[in-house]
Amino acid sequence: MSEGPEVRRKAEKLRELLVGEPLTEVAFVFDRLKAFEPELTGRRVTAVDTFGKAYVVRLEGGLNLYVHPKMFGHWILRVRPGMPKTDRALRIALKNRKGAAYLYSTNDMAVLTDEEVARHKYLTQLGPDILDPEVTEAQVLARYQDPRFAPKRLTTLLLDQGFLAGIGNYMRSEILFEARLYPLRRACDLSPDELARLAQATVAVSRRAFEARGMTVTPAIVAEGKRLKLKPWDYRHWVFKREAKPCYACGAAIERHETEGRRYFMCPVCQPAEKLSITLAEPLRTRASGPSV
Ligand SMILES: [Zn+2]
Repeated sequence: MSEGPEVRRKAEKLRELLVGEPLTEVAFVFDRLKAFEPELTGRRVTAVDTFGKAYVVRLEGGLNLYVHPKMFGHWILRVRPGMPKTDRALRIALKNRKGAAYLYSTNDMAVLTDEEVARHKYLTQLGPDILDPEVTEAQVLARYQDPRFAPKRLTTLLLDQGFLAGIGNYMRSEILFEARLYPLRRACDLSPDELARLAQATVAVSRRAFEARGMTVTPAIVAEGKRLKLKPWDYRHWVFKREAKPCYACGAAIERHETEGRRYFMCPVCQPAEKLSITLAEPLRTRASGPSV
């Protein structure tokens, strides 16, 4: 699944191929979009923007192609003739004199005017894009403290695109590990230090994933993984998809859990559940000092 870093990197490639060039051929698989084929052909692409996980390909004359990849959507770009070899279901082909961009495996797309983009239901409900270089740690911290978001569990919040756009399932686990927080806690229950750590990790992990092609661990761990000739998936993330493997920080076995149908991964030692010792100790002591049977 594409998360913000993957969408942004793909958008850079789409820009290199498409921006400044007129489209020489536009093909849509869905009947509802067929009428736009002649309308879009011949128009120059002026920009490729991203909003969280969505793409907006902007064309001259105020028309835009909106695409949300959902779980499986995927662009493949070609500068050579010939179609990509893939079993995926083709949805859109955009061609110009330099090459072609093929979109596969999503149904969420539309041709929109500038006004429709500005009013679009998904786009207008998005929170700040975590990969927008202008978004600061202070803004992210304020978002966690916002009464609309603070009472929700961190696992819920981090997948809510209205909270912050661009974070998905692997980044959720990785951010919470780097902040050393138990995933089922709520922002409103965190100490100021924990909140600051969470805001810092949210920004740092997202930007690292964008720069390091989805890798969320530190460069030192990547270097060590390469030196040991491990497979990239074995040193790509702190905890995501590392169930039962040793934590890079403490050596404990990483755990896999599920909430609301989505899996998350955590270290039980680095991310301990809220301290239950006091509340548990009281009834135990009471029972011990009670009348013997
Ligand atoms: Zn650990």
